[in-house]
Amino acid sequence: MYRALLFGLVFAGLAACGDTDHGAATDQETDERTEAASAEAAAQIDTERLSEIVKILASDEFEGRAPGTPGDKKTVEYLIDQFAQLGLEPGGKNGSWVQTVPLIHTRVQVPAAIEFKVGGEAQTLQQQTDIEVSTVRPIESIAINAPVVFVGFGAYAPERDWDDYGEIDLRGKVALFLVNDPDFAAAPDEEVAGRFGNRRMTYYGRWAYKFEEAARRGATAALVIHETEAAGYGWNVASSSPGENYAVVRVESGEDPVTLQGWLHGDAAAALFAAAGHDLDELRVRARSADFEAFELDDVTFGADLSVQVESIDSSNVLAKLPGTSRPDEILMVSAHWDAYGIGEPDTQGRTVRPGANDDALGMAGVLEIARVLSAGPPLERSVIFAAWTAEESGLLGSEAYVVDPVYPLEKTVANLTLDILQTAGPARDVILVGEGQSELEDDLARAAAKQGRVVSPENLPENGLFYRADHFSLARQGVPVLLIMGIAGGADLVDGGREAGDQWIADYIGNCYHQTCDAWSPDWDLRGAADDISLFRTILEDLGNSKRWPKWKSGSEFKAIREQSAESRSGP
Ligand SMILES: [Zn+2]
Repeated sequence: MYRALLFGLVFAGLAACGDTDHGAATDQETDERTEAASAEAAAQIDTERLSEIVKILASDEFEGRAPGTPGDKKTVEYLIDQFAQLGLEPGGKNGSWVQTVPLIHTRVQVPAAIEFKVGGEAQTLQQQTDIEVSTVRPIESIAINAPVVFVGFGAYAPERDWDDYGEIDLRGKVALFLVNDPDFAAAPDEEVAGRFGNRRMTYYGRWAYKFEEAARRGATAALVIHETEAAGYGWNVASSSPGENYAVVRVESGEDPVTLQGWLHGDAAAALFAAAGHDLDELRVRARSADFEAFELDDVTFGADLSVQVESIDSSNVLAKLPGTSRPDEILMVSAHWDAYGIGEPDTQGRTVRPGANDDALGMAGVLEIARVLSAGPPLERSVIFAAWTAEESGLLGSEAYVVDPVYPLEKTVANLTLDILQTAGPARDVILVGEGQSELEDDLARAAAKQGRVVSPENLPENGLFYRADHFSLARQGVPVLLIMGIAGGADLVDGGREAGDQWIADYIGNCYHQTCDAWSPDWDLRGAADDISLFRTILEDLGNSKRWPKWKSGSEFKAIREQSAESRSGP
C-alpha cells in the first residue's frame, strides 16, 4: 500500500517537472522525439509494472487476500488507489468505487447423522467418506426425511430436445444426479453422441447446474454421484472442505437454493441402488437415452439431522469506469478476481500465506495495465468497466453478487473479458481458447492474435469444463458474451521450448503451486507472454469500444436463448 502510494507521488512529481522543462526547452525536436518514444512505451502493456503489482498484492502484508480478513481491506484500498491514480471514475454503487458483497460462510457440524433407509433398513453415511454435504442457506439446523428420486443426468435442455424430468414432481424430495452430461461416456455410434458436445462438458454437466435445476423444481436436497473421470477430479477434491460452503446473501429471495447439497461417493450410491433393486451401472447407460425419465426409488428415504454454523462476511467488488464518449450506456467489461486462499497450514518451509500471485494477482495486474493504457489513449465511444471481483475461490461469488444486482444493465453489456491465471514462461506462438464454439468473441480473439502474428489453439482438456469455472461464467449465465484467458487451459506453444514446454509449465504450476503457498511472486518470471495475452484483450476492447457491433453467442451455445430475450434493447449488428 505505502509503496504504491510512494510510486504514485514520485510519478506525479516527475510529470510536473516534465511540464516545467517543456516550457523552458531549447531543443524542441529532441523533446518531441522523447515524448513520442515515451508515449509509444506508455501505450504498451508493461511487464515491469505487471511484476511490481503482483509483488505487492502477493506480499505477506496482504495475507493471501481472503475475503473478510484484514488482507481484504488492504487489497480493496490498494485497487481503489491504483484506479484513482490512473484517473478513472468510481464505477461502483452510488458513485463509490465498490459494490458491497455480503456473504455467508456455513459449516455443517460433524458428527452429522445422515442415512438412506431402504425398506426400513438404514444405510448410514459418513460425512467426507460416503457423502459430502453442505448448505448455502443461512440456517442453523437441517432436518430432512424425504423420498429419493433418481434424475439421471438431470438435464432439462429444450434446445437439445432433451428432458430428464418428464412428469416427475421433485417438491420436497431428494434428487440424485449422475455427474457430467448425457454423452460424456457415450460411444460414437450411440444416438446421444454429440448431443451435449461429446467429451466437452456443457453446463448441464456441472454440479452447479444440477443444484440449480433441483432448486427450480422445489427439491429439498440434491446429491451428485461422484465418478472421478466424469467429474474431472477425485473424491479427495470433492470432499476437501467437508461441510463448508459460502454463498452470496440475496437481497430479495427469488429462487431459494436447495437446503442440502453435495456429493455421494460412487460406492455408497452403488450400495443404495443395489439394496433398492437397481443396478447403478445399468442406470448409467439408460440415462444416456433421450427416453430416460426420472423415477422415485420405491420405499427409499434420505434422512439428515444436522446443525449448521453460520458466519456473515462483508466483502467488496471494486469497480472503475472509463466513460464512453458517444454511447456511454454500452458497457465493455474486463475483469479478474482479487481474492486468494488466505492463510493455511505451514508448508515445508514454514510459509502459511497462500498469496495467489499467479491466481489471480497477475490477472488483476493485467486489468490495471489495460486500465492504464486505455485511459492514456484516445477515448472510446463505449464505456469500459474494470471489475475486481471478490470471493471467486469460494464459488465465483463476487461476480455472482454483481449479476444478482448489476450496477450496469446486463442486456447493454457488450462483453465480459476475464483474466484468470496467465502463464509466466515467456512469449508464445498461440493463445489458448477456453469454450470453443461458444461465442463470436472467439473470432475477435483470433483477429487480435493475428495482429500479433499468433494463432488461437483450443484448450486441451475441455471435459474439465474450465469454461464454467471462472468469474466470466457468472456473466455468461445471464447471457453476456464472454471471453476467458486462463493459463492452465492448455499448454501454450512457447517460443522457447514449444508445446512441450508449455505443458510442462502447467504441470509444474498445477502440481506444486496452484492454490498453495508456492503460488508466489518470482523475479524469474518471464511475463512477455502474459503481456501479449493481456494486449489481446486491450485490442479487443479498443475495437469493440469504437464499434456498434454486439457479439453474439453461437448456435448450440446454452447461453444464446437468454441473451436473445433482451435483443430489443440493443441496436446495431
Ligand atoms: Zn483464479
